[in-house]
Amino acid sequence: MIYLDYQAPTPVAPEVVKAMEPWISEKFANPHSPSKWGNEAEAAIEVARRQVERAMCLDRGSVAFTGSATEAINWALKGMVEKAPPHRNRIITLATEHAAVLDTCEWLAGRGIDLTILPVKADGLLDLDLLERELDDRVLLVAVMQANNEIGVLQPIAEIAEMTHNVGALMLCDAVQAFGRLCIPDGPDLVALSAHKIHGPKAVGALWMRKGVNPEPLIHGGGQERGMRSGTLSPALCVGFGAAAKLAAERSDRDYDHVLRLWKTAMHALGPGWTINGSTDHRYLGNLNVRRDGVDAARLLADLRNIAFSLGSACASGSGRPSHVLRAIGLDYRESRSSIRLGFGRYTTQQELTEACNQIAAAAKAQEHLVA
Ligand code: PLP
Repeated sequence: MIYLDYQAPTPVAPEVVKAMEPWISEKFANPHSPSKWGNEAEAAIEVARRQVERAMCLDRGSVAFTGSATEAINWALKGMVEKAPPHRNRIITLATEHAAVLDTCEWLAGRGIDLTILPVKADGLLDLDLLERELDDRVLLVAVMQANNEIGVLQPIAEIAEMTHNVGALMLCDAVQAFGRLCIPDGPDLVALSAHKIHGPKAVGALWMRKGVNPEPLIHGGGQERGMRSGTLSPALCVGFGAAAKLAAERSDRDYDHVLRLWKTAMHALGPGWTINGSTDHRYLGNLNVRRDGVDAARLLADLRNIAFSLGSACASGSGRPSHVLRAIGLDYRESRSSIRLGFGRYTTQQELTEACNQIAAAAKAQEHLVA
């Protein structure tokens, strides 16, 4: 099998597995218990926290571990709304955000929050003039992701944060797809992360909070994470996240150069006839979302069971619904249905990528003959 779905989970790094192993087997103590073993587990979690924080390259803030980025996003949005003064009751976000943001915002809108979902341009980028016109002193929070999970487009996070701060509002950045791959620009007040996108384990994420920005807790109980997020932490998952973050920071240049080479390899091997969805200039190059006239992408997926790739977002795939991101950049139903997403990265070889793209190109051509 050739794995080209790096925007869904990434393969777990061997270094991460090794770091986690003792915490799954013999080191089973509760990190919140006062015993010697508990203290050891707690210390390991604190090391992991520093590793994640250091890899983010943002200062004046700290990370709280969560069960996922989805939880971190829910916490940031609901927790800030809970604390907001009555006149700050607007949230602005984009039509291309992940469901974790959009669905939470819709839920809040059902409880009285004034929600504005801004459209994006055909290249997937936010029109900053449009944002400027929308911002006012009723805005509590602007939520914009750094790298889009479906089309890889990179939003101008630093500029958006600055504009947001100018009206006294806060910015939440879903950096799930960017963290460990690209630098997170300085600016956001809250940042959501997930370990399984950076070769770490699933079911652990984090919320980075700028100093002084403290959303109300979402989960109540034992008062873990300085009273902000209750629930016993898993040392194994936190240590795995920390090891993955450390590795990503150490290898960032090497990984980036590799991804750049893979992008060129994929473009060459796919050959002509494919159109890139989303900006070609402002994108993470480990995400290649392309379409080809006349292709039935679902059939392509069924024909090529030996290649793991995606129709759009991993969440939307299989639902039968056309991707909200592709719709937001103006693709019609037919164009969305002829779009595929190839995601590659650290462990993808040029040889397997060439092989997969050749097979995809051949299967797409075969469909043309069938239709003709
Ligand atoms: N945000 C983005 C951009 C994602 O790609 C994902 C996962 O696919 C999430 C949020 C949710 O992350 P998690 O699986 O940790 O809840």
